[in-house]
Amino acid sequence: MDPRAFAYFPTTQPVASKKSNYCVLLDKDVGERSSIEYCKCGKCVIQPTSVENICCKETLENNSKYSKNVCELLGDHRCICDSAIVRDYVYRKQELELWSMFDNWKSRSDKQIVSSLDPHRHIRFAAYQKLTFLFHGVLGMKKRVELPSCLVDFIRKQYPNPDGVYIGFKNAEWTDE
Ligand SMILES: [Zn+2]
Ligand SMILES: [Zn+2]
Repeated sequence: MDPRAFAYFPTTQPVASKKSNYCVLLDKDVGERSSIEYCKCGKCVIQPTSVENICCKETLENNSKYSKNVCELLGDHRCICDSAIVRDYVYRKQELELWSMFDNWKSRSDKQIVSSLDPHRHIRFAAYQKLTFLFHGVLGMKKRVELPSCLVDFIRKQYPNPDGVYIGFKNAEWTDE
């Protein structure tokens, strides 16, 4: 087990504070990122916080275990969004709906999973979860590994919020995004 995850257990403290620029995916502080200069795949968009501004190509030159997981699917593609497996996961809307329903049932939550204001929210949420499982397997302890900006944007374009408003990355929570 990653000792950092254990270090925060059993509190509900997020793995990194909101102000931290520590990126779990790259296992390093990425500094302040407010421009798109970091992107090498050509598909990233600027996101609200530095740790969301990660390009899929950065995993190629990084040795963290999570980067290696992403690299396995990135292969020779120009962008992780070009991977047929990744695209397939995103396109299968009915499976994402089912995943979302199951997740809700598992947590015994009776909350409404489909938001009338943002009817795709639960599908984006399921896509983030499912892709994280695809890349990294079970993480546990509410640990959250960032998805590259290009991939988050790909999911949002597929299942947009009609208002175009996205809250952004939140550590240890799967609230939307
Ligand atoms: Zn990129
Ligand atoms: Zn990319």
